[in-house]
Formats: sequence, structure tokens, C-alpha cells
Amino acid sequence: MKNIIVIGGGAAGMMAAISAASAGLETGREVSVKILEKNEKLGKKVFITGKGRCNLTNGIPMEDFFDKVISNKKFLYGAFASFTNQDIIDLMEEEGTKVKEERGNRIFPVSDHSSDVIGALKRRLNKLGVEICNHTCVKEIVTLPYDSPDAKGPCQKVAGVILEDGRKLSCDSLILATGGKSYPVTGSSGDGYRFAKKLGIELVDTYPALVPITVKEEDAKDLQGLALKNVELKLSLLKAGGKEKILYENRGEMLFAHFGLTGPLVLSASSYVAKEFSRDHRDLKISLDLKPALSFEQLDKRLLREFEENQNRNFSNSLDRLLPKTMIPFLIERSGLSPYKKVNLITKEEREGFVDLMKNLCFSVSGLRGFNEAIITQGGIKVKEVNPKTMEVKKVKDLYVAGEVLDLDAVTGGFNLQIAWSTGYVAGRSALLSDQEESGLDE
Ligand SMILES: Cc1cc2nc3c(=O)[nH]c(=O)nc-3n(C[C@H](O)[C@H](O)[C@H](O)COP(=O)(O)OP(=O)(O)OC[C@H]3O[C@@H](n4cnc5c(N)ncnc54)[C@H](O)[C@@H]3O)c2cc1C
Repeated sequence: MKNIIVIGGGAAGMMAAISAASAGLETGREVSVKILEKNEKLGKKVFITGKGRCNLTNGIPMEDFFDKVISNKKFLYGAFASFTNQDIIDLMEEEGTKVKEERGNRIFPVSDHSSDVIGALKRRLNKLGVEICNHTCVKEIVTLPYDSPDAKGPCQKVAGVILEDGRKLSCDSLILATGGKSYPVTGSSGDGYRFAKKLGIELVDTYPALVPITVKEEDAKDLQGLALKNVELKLSLLKAGGKEKILYENRGEMLFAHFGLTGPLVLSASSYVAKEFSRDHRDLKISLDLKPALSFEQLDKRLLREFEENQNRNFSNSLDRLLPKTMIPFLIERSGLSPYKKVNLITKEEREGFVDLMKNLCFSVSGLRGFNEAIITQGGIKVKEVNPKTMEVKKVKDLYVAGEVLDLDAVTGGFNLQIAWSTGYVAGRSALLSDQEESGLDE
């Protein structure tokens, strides 16, 4: 009987347990699979995903998923091929949770309840006889010295775990699926990084990602609460000699907050901010095009038309049809023009300067909001430490990793959960199918 323990009952851990137990059934190998979850229930983070609706994957072809991965896309070639978006959809539907596709090919349960995604996974876990141990927090991973036949191979192997309450559990294979550091209230508080560090596994510094961005300009506060649709956001790195490198560019929705910027466009841009911060590049600029559907010349003509129709009015009273109300005093302030200036006195240069402001409204990035607000953690266990075909840690025999604890992250759209499903699937299957050996840890 092969004894497999999974640490963490989140998306990756549940999938790893399902995969290990299914592989046992498929191959006729006897297996006992146990999930150790510190919370009172499984999938606390999955429950809050997609604003409680769980965007569980995306409907685009699997080969297009790689463009959506920010960190270490090549590492995922095997995992994405082994367990695809269709595989998780099939699992859901086989367990009675129908799914639907929405804008941006995002897949949700038809019910709009993330609990139905967790329900489907739990039903599968129960059918496969996986033992679920809630309220069970792992304190330490125990390893034993190992004499690898390969000189470059691991010199330690997994023996088991020690729990917070002092109990010791032995196992033949261990799957580490403790998640990242974001939204720590859901249980993902970075324990996996501590375990890894203690075992000599290299880590990449962690940063909050898919998170609101703070800006240096104090005047951004004046726009607090303003939501913009159909704007274009460009994130650039300012280089020596006044050169700029564009890191991210997209159209969509965003929102101003007391600290800076948030909303879908901004969250996506934040992943690229985190990447630059990890390289110690901090000179980053966000520029907003408030009218991306119009060229500079078209917008200038449009503004001119407004001016012609409002010739004798104050500048501040001439823009109502062009801009949201709260944006008008803000832009006028930035333009340096008087709000009381009569429209017919505004020069061509001043008008063009104002058009430029609408097409290129700039903010300097000062930082990222914290892990408490981050959808994902960037950084974590270095992928070079892990075999991408099996998810086994190269330095520790029989230790597998899956999910957000790894240095893997993607943009929004269901891609992060697919990373958890795919890596969880590979880790579970490999944990069962690798050579069976008994551990030496006493109960
Ligand atoms: C607000 C929010 C919304 C999101 N929405 C989406 C979305 O719609 N689509 C999408 O693709 N992604 C979304 N994500 C990201 C997605 O939730 C994660 O990528 C995914 O949950 C990672 O899965 P995981 O199993 O690696 O980690 P987690 O889901 O974090 O699971 C880790 C588990 O390990 C447990 N654990 C940790 N340490 C220990 C320990 N020492 N002992 C025992 N148990 C332990 C934790 O309690 C936790 O249950 C969202 C994230 C957030 C925060």
C-alpha cells in the first residue's frame, strides 16, 4: 500500500489527491491518500474566487494559455498537456456541476456558485476514498538521509510530517500544495516557503500580484471612486536617456481609489510591475488614454467642435459631453489652464496640450498594495528545483509540489486555477506511480 499525504486542501491539493487516488484505481495499485488541511474545510480560497462565482478555467485553446502565464511558462508545457481546461470541465460535469463560458472565454459554474466547484471536487474525493483531515496544520516536513544511485541525485528523502499538535505522520510520498501568501485569511500564509527553505530548496522572492497599484501623484485621490470603461492603459519602464520600454498595454475597465489605481486593467498590469520590482526596476509609469477609439487628430477635432459650440463659456463648462464630471476639474488642474478662461481665448497649443493630456494621462508607480489584497503571489519555489514532468523536487526524493507555492502565475481569466489543477494532477499521478518505498518515520 502506498501512503500519500497532501499538505493543503486548496485547488492544487484537492486535484493532486484526486489524481493520485484515480491513478491507483486505474493501475490497480493500492494507495491511501490523505489531505491535511489546516482550515475547518477544503477550498476556502476557491470559495472566494471569481467574486464567489469561481472562474475555474478559460475556454481558449490550451496552446494559447502560455501567453497568459507571466512567470515560467515553459515549465508548464507538460502539465498543461497532461491536464487541460477540458479535463477540469469534464470532471465538473461528471460530478454534476455544469459550466458556462462568459466574456473573455472565462468558464464559470452555471449556478454562479463557487461552492458547486468545491462540491464536485469533494464528491470525487469521497468516491475515491481520499481521507480528509481538516483542522490539521503541518508544522514541519521530516526527511531522512538518502543514498542516491545517481551522484547528482537527491541526498534526502521524505519520511513524513510533524503536525502543530506534535503528532507525526509517516508517508511514502508527500505533495506540498500550501498555496502562496495572498489573502492569508484563507489559510495560504506562506508555510510552504518555510518548509522548502528548511529543506534547502531555493526560493524566488515573493511579491503580491494581480493587486491594486499605488501611485506617487497626490492628485489621484481627487478621482477616488471614479470608474472608467474602455480606457487604454500602458505600463512602461523608464530607462536611461529618457527611453521607455512598454511592459503592458491593454484596453478595459479601471477604477481610482484613495491610494491609486485598481480594477481589472490595473490588476493585470500589476503582475508586470511585480516582475520589474523583482529585478529592482522601480521607475515605472502608467499612462492612460481616456479616448483610445479616437486618434489625436480626431480627438482634437472633437474638442474643437465642443469649443465652437461653447465659445463664450468658461473652459470648465465646455467639457461635459467629453469627460466624466469628476475628471474635468482634475484634468484642467493638470493642464495648468484656468477653469474660468473663456473657451474662445484658448489657443491652439493649449487645446492640443489638453488633447495630449486626455490621450496620455500619466501616473508614476510608487508600489503595490499588500498580500492581503493580492489575488496571486509572484515568486515562490524556484521551478529549476522541480522536475516539470513529475513535479518532484530534485533535491528531496518523494517530495512533490503543486500550485501557487511554485514560482508560477498568470493573468486573470481562470489561468491561475488551471495552473493549480494541471500541476496538482501531475504531482498526484507521479507521487503514486514513482517507485514504492517504505518511509522510516515512527508514528
Ligand atoms: C480573491 C481571489 C480571487 C481569485 N479568483 C480567481 C479566479 O476566479 N480564477 C482563477 O483562476 N484564480 C483565481 N484566484 C487565484 C486562485 O485562487 C489561486 O491561484 C489558487 O487557489 C491556488 O491554489 P493552491 O491550491 O495552490 O493554493 P490555495 O488555494 O491557497 O490552497 C492552499 C491550501 O493549503 C492550506 N495550508 C497552507 N499551509 C498549511 C499547513 N501548514 N498545513 C495544512 N494546510 C495548509 C491552506 O489552508 C489552503 O487551503 C483568486 C484568488 C483570490 C485571492
